[in-house]
Amino acid sequence: MLRGERTSRRVSRPANASVRATYASDGSMNNLLVMKFGGTSMGSAERIRVAAKICAGQKTRRPVVAVVSAMSKVTDLLLNTLRHAEAGDRPGIEANIELLAGRHLETCDELLEGERRRQATSGIRALIADFGRIAHGMLMLGERPPRSVDEAIAIGERLSALLIAEYLESTGIPARAINGSDVIVTDAVFGNATPIMAETRKKADQVLKPLLSVGIIPVVTGFNGATVDGRQTTLGRGGSDFSASILAAVLDASELYIWTDVDGIMSADPRSVADARVLDAVTYSEAAELAYNGAKVLHPRTLAPLIERQIPIWSKNSFHLEHPGTRITSTVETPPGPRAVTSMADVALISLEPASLAVSSARLMARALEALADANAEVLAFTSSSYRQSFCFLVRKEELSSAMKCLESDLALELTHGYLKPIEVDENVGLLAVVGEGMHGTPGLAGRIFSAISEQQVNIIAIAQGSSELTISIVVHRDGLERAIQAVHKECR
Ligand code: ADP
Ligand code: ASP
Ligand code: MG
Repeated sequence: MLRGERTSRRVSRPANASVRATYASDGSMNNLLVMKFGGTSMGSAERIRVAAKICAGQKTRRPVVAVVSAMSKVTDLLLNTLRHAEAGDRPGIEANIELLAGRHLETCDELLEGERRRQATSGIRALIADFGRIAHGMLMLGERPPRSVDEAIAIGERLSALLIAEYLESTGIPARAINGSDVIVTDAVFGNATPIMAETRKKADQVLKPLLSVGIIPVVTGFNGATVDGRQTTLGRGGSDFSASILAAVLDASELYIWTDVDGIMSADPRSVADARVLDAVTYSEAAELAYNGAKVLHPRTLAPLIERQIPIWSKNSFHLEHPGTRITSTVETPPGPRAVTSMADVALISLEPASLAVSSARLMARALEALADANAEVLAFTSSSYRQSFCFLVRKEELSSAMKCLESDLALELTHGYLKPIEVDENVGLLAVVGEGMHGTPGLAGRIFSAISEQQVNIIAIAQGSSELTISIVVHRDGLERAIQAVHKECR
């Protein structure tokens, strides 16, 4: 355990505590705000100062829990280092560790002075040494065990939590860096763990509430957790949003702010559509559909813990504080028609077709879905053709090999006896999704969308629409994906 990273239950009252948590008669905390700062919002000393100022401003009015990501690109750097380790590339490891140390130590020098800087520097060095030990262990083994990967990559968040907690303290705002693995309890699916909410609630009560009660801001690392028996896990790439929503739910927060680098949820990713607009408000369902269909602005699993408790979320820009951002709640006055377009490029289409009409396609579908569940692969879209009885699933490329392995082994009998044609995979595809509560019952909309795509000479491979009519998912050739998004965005404006 390092300086600035404590979980002690005995917490002394800071001299200059501002707002302390108070509790309602049912024991729930009044007016708690959870705020998550993403990688760009933590990306430099200047950004950390802004994030700290936001915390300090809110703290004058209500108790605050901060959840932080690693500094931008740090998780990629850590993962890249572990790949070097697996490949036996010692110089690659050393070069990356130097970059990692340089970035954090320079930021520390810019933020802190004197004894506090000295202490924080040794904390940073100790964390980087821990990372180095895990990387060198992998070098010796020549492999990357998922459990050790999770322990190693959470160090990015531990470094940034340490930096901002120390900086807050240096400005007179009581703060404490907390390792998310001391609070968020998960299952043992390394790399994509799922929280166990009841256990997490108990831990949050033990670790975070005593700090809040005396006016200290807990700065919790996003992205990571630990199993009941203490093995470290992570929640999937971009998972700090999810960490923040888990904590907001178990602490019964009154609001969650997600601070990022755009003005809120937009009608499309501004990186692919130049005239994308910020949406004032979207429903939980719209936000979830957008996130699940590739809008990186929110991690797909962020919404679920909040919906049950009706905790409102705001997506806000830490580079543009005057902008109110996008409010996400259960009911929003949605205009008719689509709200936003989103896409996923790294996907693959798996097609299955019975070899004869005598084979029950329903049974094959059921077995194929079971195989995908065994592979832990998510079905992003599913379509079927009733005449040929063929059907296809869209999955993430990173889940393709495990999906294929499970499909081929679970359906081995059907494949060898010729009941099922060889399974086909098309990796040259992309998913485009059009989302909006107001699409329900809007006549002619699908036709307009398909025409807009066809006018770009982009071939539509598959189409899926849920019965809620909240989302139309369209699989197109990968090469035409960008053109299709722009055309559909223009058509739906
Ligand atoms: P953070 O590091 O703060 O978590 P991310 O990079 O994960 O930020 O998410 C923010 C990015 O999401 C934006 O820079 C933007 O390019 C992208 N994005 C994709 N789709 C959307 C959308 N519909 N609205 C806003 N941003 C989007
Ligand atoms: N640092 C992690 C990642 O890059 C988690 C996050 O930023 O949300 O995936
Ligand atoms: Mg993110």
